[in-house]
Amino acid sequence: MGTDRLLNTVASLTRLMEDRAPGDDAVLDQARDLMSSLVERDDWLPDAFAQPHPEFYRQYLLYGDPLDRFSLVSFVWGPGQKTPIHDHTVWGVIAMLRGAELERHYHRTNEGMVAVGPESRLEPGEVACVSPTIGDVHQVSNAYADRVSISIHLYGGNIGRIRRAVYDPKSGEPKAFVSGYSNAVAANLWAG
Ligand code: FE
Repeated sequence: MGTDRLLNTVASLTRLMEDRAPGDDAVLDQARDLMSSLVERDDWLPDAFAQPHPEFYRQYLLYGDPLDRFSLVSFVWGPGQKTPIHDHTVWGVIAMLRGAELERHYHRTNEGMVAVGPESRLEPGEVACVSPTIGDVHQVSNAYADRVSISIHLYGGNIGRIRRAVYDPKSGEPKAFVSGYSNAVAANLWAG
């Protein structure tokens, strides 16, 4: 049944991270495969973690590793919503579950933020990665102006607690932020 898919993924991720230090990106390929399997079907995400907000995109914590080696987040886009240009400081896997999203990578220069490559579009079942090695700075948006989109994000750390940065597009000036989580706890899901 649906919830088993999530539980099995978390179990596999925990095994994958065993004996790894937080931030070790050698696991990225395998993590990507696990996330790809997770979004093969859209029948497992509880409604509580799929609720949009009229103004802000939501980040619901689905599971946080007790040793902060990974966190799994349901990222819910309201119609037309988008992030600022931001970084993560740890590796991440973005797995599209519902709707679609647009992503553009950037790098910082003296003349502000410059786009790297074309905009890419992520459809359900597809995955994309970020990391300080392969490119960590991007801007993401809901591809739809009239419907909700949801992607499931896996990060190589406790993303809601990590101090990272958003970047001013014109000056490239970084501003520190901590994203937090939209839900206080995800305990209900794990209570069975
Ligand atoms: Fe991001």
